Amino acid sequence: MVVEEPIGPLHPAVEAVLRAIEQLRRRPRTHREPDELTAELRGLRRGQDLLELEFAATAAQFSRTEEYEEQGSVSPIDWIRHHCKMSSSAVWGSVAVGEHLADLPRSVEAVESGEIGYAHLTLMARTADALQGSSTAAPFEETELLEKAREFSVGRLWHFCHHLRHALDPEGFTAEQKRATEERSLKLSPCEDGTLLLEGWLDSVGGAALRSALEPLALPNGDHDERGREHRNADALVEIVTHVQDAGSLPQRPHLQVTASLDTLRGLAGSPAGDMEYALPVSAETVRRLACDGTITRVVLSPESVVIDVGRARRVVAGPTRRALAARDGHCRWPHCDRPASWSDAHHVIHWSKGGETDLSNMVLLCHRHHWMAHEGGWQLVQTAEGEVLTVPPRPPGLARAADVDDPVEAARRFAQQLTPARAP
Ligand SMILES: [Zn+2]
Ligand SMILES: [Zn+2]
Repeated sequence: MVVEEPIGPLHPAVEAVLRAIEQLRRRPRTHREPDELTAELRGLRRGQDLLELEFAATAAQFSRTEEYEEQGSVSPIDWIRHHCKMSSSAVWGSVAVGEHLADLPRSVEAVESGEIGYAHLTLMARTADALQGSSTAAPFEETELLEKAREFSVGRLWHFCHHLRHALDPEGFTAEQKRATEERSLKLSPCEDGTLLLEGWLDSVGGAALRSALEPLALPNGDHDERGREHRNADALVEIVTHVQDAGSLPQRPHLQVTASLDTLRGLAGSPAGDMEYALPVSAETVRRLACDGTITRVVLSPESVVIDVGRARRVVAGPTRRALAARDGHCRWPHCDRPASWSDAHHVIHWSKGGETDLSNMVLLCHRHHWMAHEGGWQLVQTAEGEVLTVPPRPPGLARAADVDDPVEAARRFAQQLTPARAP
């Protein structure tokens, strides 16, 4: 049996509604036809909208009393939020509707008749609230908004409300955006394991700039892309930052340095990890990736800790070789990836620290993420005699490392066939 929380003295009409709802909830819900379901959805929504109107009127009335203080809350909004178990924005919406019922008489009728939804009315009330709260705004009138509400979805009306507020109160609108901009922040918290936690808040133009920059880079890209949206966003952010650093377009050249011994680069057992500014020690495979093209300043130490190679912030693969590679590959060579050459690193198929040549036959262009997959990700790249690049996932079952079999190209092909089921047309 459900034990109900005590509510307090209720008007008999409210008690009757609660009893009716209880009865509603006990009805059988099986074997319903689609038209019964659609009718019920609309009927229940209508009921909810009408109850919301009642709730709003009561919430506004309550907010004009001092009862919240008697009960130890800091504001009426806070009391409702806590005791009615709602989000703050839902409470603000209800109080705004309740307070502006008199400014929106025809819109309230439109909710009662089901012409517009309560969600429309909340937007209208909040717009009225913002305009009436501003000393610079023209007076609020419901006609135009109501016309749009009849025509627009809630999302479109929300957008329109902003335009209307700007039209009626350009000064107040600008002041509000200015306040929002002053709230901006980006907190970077290094975690114990060397990762970085980002917490931030951007104004709407800054947020739009970030989103429009991330959006095209955060699309699924290339074969075997299993990443979710948030993984792709994170990759896109790092890709942009890496790219502007590589392109040297920052006003001050970043001095990101990686220091590692030759033993580490060669992957010898017992060698230490690499050191990187702003990060905890990084694995040998990461050092190899960063040193592969050398777009990050690197310092390579001999086992005696003597600096034997100080890479400037220039690429290992520079000048004519780089241009020839860009001309040959054009873009990242991972199957079906089209990141342009300027967004890609020159990957040594056999790393230079292990004797691989820095010439075209041993290099392919790979974008930031696919370069990571080829190093830390454990994928193997196999190049056919015709120059096609085949990808083999990390330690696939039944296949030795491609480098260890007689015919790696054949092995990779065979595996790719098993891996790629017939694609939907
Ligand atoms: Zn590489
Ligand atoms: Zn790629």
